[in-house]
Amino acid sequence: MATGESDCLFCRIVAGEIPAEIVHRGEAVVGFRDVAPQAPVHVLFVPTAHHANAAALAAAAPEAAAELVTAAAAVADAEGLDGHYRLVFNTGTGVGQSVFHAHLHLLGGRSMTWPPG
Ligand code: AMP
Repeated sequence: MATGESDCLFCRIVAGEIPAEIVHRGEAVVGFRDVAPQAPVHVLFVPTAHHANAAALAAAAPEAAAELVTAAAAVADAEGLDGHYRLVFNTGTGVGQSVFHAHLHLLGGRSMTWPPG
């Protein structure tokens, strides 16, 4: 399904039915602060249309997938991250995906180790 789903948390945030601290609104992408931030800057970028994960989004709407990254880079600049940040798509419960509406995590503002846990 490529439009809002009534039982999807992020569709409801995009629709304004659930409050969030919105930091970006673009053509096909909305960015809002994560409710449980894992870094000083932790913003989620979601397509306004519903897709279950990043790969499904890229297959159906590659321009929206690209917009997630360009929006994240713009917010990283606006937040003063000076080109040092991490972008993450968790895909599948085994690596921590908990919301099944594609979303890109922007994390920054502290040092990070690699590999991730
Ligand atoms: P993931 O675990 O990769 O699926 O990421 C889902 C993210 O959504 C987590 O980092 C949660 O903290 C975040 N989250 C859950 N509910 C909300 C909400 N109502 N507003 C903002 N972020 C949320």
